[in-house]
Amino acid sequence: MPDRLFSDHLLQGLEPDEQAVVHHVRRLCTETIGPNAAAVGREDRFAWDTFRLLAREGIVATAFPKAFGGTDARQVLRIRIIEELGRVCSTAASMITGTDLSARAIVAGASKALQQELLPRLCRGEIQSAFGLTEAQAGSDVRGLASVARRDGDGYVLDGSKKFITRASTADWLMVVARLQDHTGFVGLLVPRDAPGLTISPEVGKLGWFGVPISSLRFDAVRVPASHRLGEEGDGFSLAQDALLRARIGHAAMALGRAIGAVEIAATYAGDRRLFGRQLGEHQGAQWMLADMATQIEASRALLHATAQKYDRGDADCAIFASMAKLHATDLCMKVVTDALQLTGGRGYLQDFPLERFFRDAKLNQIGEGASEVHKTVIGRDLVRRSVQAERNPCLREGPLTDY
Ligand SMILES: Cc1cc2nc3c(=O)[nH]c(=O)nc-3n(C[C@H](O)[C@H](O)[C@H](O)COP(=O)(O)OP(=O)(O)OC[C@H]3O[C@@H](n4cnc5c(N)ncnc54)[C@H](O)[C@@H]3O)c2cc1C
Repeated sequence: MPDRLFSDHLLQGLEPDEQAVVHHVRRLCTETIGPNAAAVGREDRFAWDTFRLLAREGIVATAFPKAFGGTDARQVLRIRIIEELGRVCSTAASMITGTDLSARAIVAGASKALQQELLPRLCRGEIQSAFGLTEAQAGSDVRGLASVARRDGDGYVLDGSKKFITRASTADWLMVVARLQDHTGFVGLLVPRDAPGLTISPEVGKLGWFGVPISSLRFDAVRVPASHRLGEEGDGFSLAQDALLRARIGHAAMALGRAIGAVEIAATYAGDRRLFGRQLGEHQGAQWMLADMATQIEASRALLHATAQKYDRGDADCAIFASMAKLHATDLCMKVVTDALQLTGGRGYLQDFPLERFFRDAKLNQIGEGASEVHKTVIGRDLVRRSVQAERNPCLREGPLTDY
């Protein structure tokens, strides 16, 4: 195989068996996922063939612990897998991030019996779960959740609704976060799709991320046994945050994979296309655009790699790094895909050309798992808070800066 346009140096820290997984994913992308991506991206129906392939080939299992048949991939491996998939097919990449997001609270908080029953089957792709957090009045401001769980005998009665829930139409189990009626916090509950009182809406049309449809949920006095609670009462929010942290790292990897794919396409076009008597790629303006894209992508990959290492080590500042990595990678991807489409002119705008799909898919990474503005708020707030205790810049004299 010829060398890739983007360097493989980030594979070097992986163990040989981890590198083999990346090469396996590459082969799947070259042989099946890449060539099929255009067809998958044409209709917003659940892409069963892609999902079954990822399950059969053991890629879905990377999100699950070994005790339940998974491989418990380190984040430094996981981001390489998702980047590979994102380079050709957002649907495939989002199936891996979405499986992790929706099953994570089961891994972290379900009873042993429920784990034994569900996790091996989720891991093999025989069943699916969905992650139900967002509501009409609680998106970025998740603490505004209005869905309520009321204690009733040995269980709960759930009322409320959820919006934008990926895979709700295909999931067998729904992980739902609700407010406890007595204001003691949030609770995570696992609801089967056939629970009496649960209504799953028809799939809702959207701009991109075809192949993983979304629906709304309504809960009318849905009874949930206490054995289906995830974690303890009050753990609902932290279980969701734990899942979202991994999902943010996944969104960043998917966005960088797509950005890499976009530069590969634009650079190839710049070599193929002749205008004004020479190659497009010989025009300095085109070279500078490609240079900016490639340089920013490598910087963003380095930030994401550092974030994954922090996750694997359990560093306390991992969440802030995940916010920075997601913010940078997803905003960058939107810009890179836009510029790559510009460089490929009218062809880039055609449905037949991959950049049209990349362009539609890029937007969601800036919105889901915390919009860019939310992450800026988190990062900025953290800097101001920590500056009180942090080492003072040696250029400053003692005392409040307002005394200058
Ligand atoms: C295709 C798709 C799939 C999804 N899948 C799921 C799923 O599976 N499960 C689930 O629970 N949710 C899911 N979501 C929901 C998603 O997580 C939310 O859309 C997202 O969190 C943003 O919430 P919102 O749409 O309500 O936007 P809002 O909260 O209304 O925010 C709108 C905009 O306001 C801006 N903004 C927000 N906060 C601030 C701030 N502090 N300062 C300045 N500006 C700000 C941002 O630009 C933001 O985009 C999905 C959404 C989509 C579109």
